[in-house]
Amino acid sequence: MKEANFLKENNARHVWHPMAHTADSLANPPDIIVGGDGVEITDVDGNRVVDAVGGLWNVNLGYSCEPVKRAISDQLDKLPYYSIFRGTTNDAVIELSTMLRDFFEPDGLSRAFFTSGGSDSVEVALRLARQYHKIRGESGRIKFLSLKKGYHGTHTLGASVNGNANFRTAYEPLMPGCYHIPAPYTYRNPFNETDPQKLAQLCLSALEDEIRFQDPSTIAAFIMEPVLGAGGVIPPHESFMPGVREICSKHGILLVSDEVITAFGRTGSWTGARHWGVQPDLLCCAKAITNGYFPFGAVMVAEGVAEVFEKDETGKGSIGSGYTYSGHPVGAAAAIACLHETERLNVKDNAAARGKQLHEGLRKLFMKHELIGDVRGGHGLMCALELVADRATKAPIDKATIGKVHRTAYDNGTMVRVSGNNIILSPPLVLTEGHVDTILNALDAGLAAAG
Ligand code: PMP
Repeated sequence: MKEANFLKENNARHVWHPMAHTADSLANPPDIIVGGDGVEITDVDGNRVVDAVGGLWNVNLGYSCEPVKRAISDQLDKLPYYSIFRGTTNDAVIELSTMLRDFFEPDGLSRAFFTSGGSDSVEVALRLARQYHKIRGESGRIKFLSLKKGYHGTHTLGASVNGNANFRTAYEPLMPGCYHIPAPYTYRNPFNETDPQKLAQLCLSALEDEIRFQDPSTIAAFIMEPVLGAGGVIPPHESFMPGVREICSKHGILLVSDEVITAFGRTGSWTGARHWGVQPDLLCCAKAITNGYFPFGAVMVAEGVAEVFEKDETGKGSIGSGYTYSGHPVGAAAAIACLHETERLNVKDNAAARGKQLHEGLRKLFMKHELIGDVRGGHGLMCALELVADRATKAPIDKATIGKVHRTAYDNGTMVRVSGNNIILSPPLVLTEGHVDTILNALDAGLAAAG
């Protein structure tokens, strides 16, 4: 490894960081991570901390998942690359597709379209949604609806359905025909409604209203995260997603469940849609499908949608989407091993138990620290603290103060993620009770230092 100063200087000179201002990256240089094992990471200065971010919500099995590493290395020896574009396929992808069919069977999803990551999965799902309607002769169904605060990656369709201005404004004009409805975000919403169930009903009414306004026959799909993730971990009331399902079905609109974060156990269920008792028409996954060790993703397709493509006689059903790396055999081999481990360790149950412990601990911190405006979580290992300068006005905390929470937590052994005025926690699903204590103690120290 190059020495620390070389890495720091050249990072500043040559690396542009995603989701960051270049000037900010220079003023606040990033931690250079050089090692990872278990649920801990090590930086170039030798600090070792619990990774409460879990990579980017993707390293569900931690950094020492030997079967996945071995599968990658074995596949590299056997067949390091071959495409699955028309005319060829590979054995790893076929084996994976049968495993995914079994895994997603309770969600009613039986076909897989492979991608290289989450943004790709969203893009493909939305493209397939439009195509589905075209094959069926409803070519006017081209619009998409989504939630404000939603995050769906940064490709153009995904950015167009994103509900956060930070990922949109600089890149406008985005795709026309994308409309957003209020999110079931109890802490802040345009209805000033604090009751989660009533808020869910108001948001569902807003959805119905928008559908009527747009004309249902012009809408292809509604896309949502079962628990809003990057927008600040916003779990809806349990009535929300079933309500969305009902409305979509009534109007012939496809429901796309964006489970790039929630699939594979993070909410304490195997999928977010299952958590709410809903079967989507299309489901986007990526991230934990390979434990973050290889860029890979999939769109899972429901039987009814698949049949429209498979029985197409119009000639409109040829799938004009695909990537050089769709169905990459190394990614597929990683995913096969990862699914085996995910199920063998039954990580969803640990996510539920440790998620409960973490959420309860965060609620105790709320009693102690005025900086915390809202504590969110309670559905597996996705939690957030929304920090405010003043609880009465809910004015968001400034960047420097939340930066201090982050830095002090790090100095106390835990990496947390700052997103706007939220501290986001999405640790590996294999963490122990002791790790949760470490995270809570580090946050306690961070909040005390900043408060
Ligand atoms: N959808 C959701 C819900 C996500 O959280 C993300 C990434 N955080 C994406 C899509 C985009 O995935 P990727 O970063 O792998 O392109």
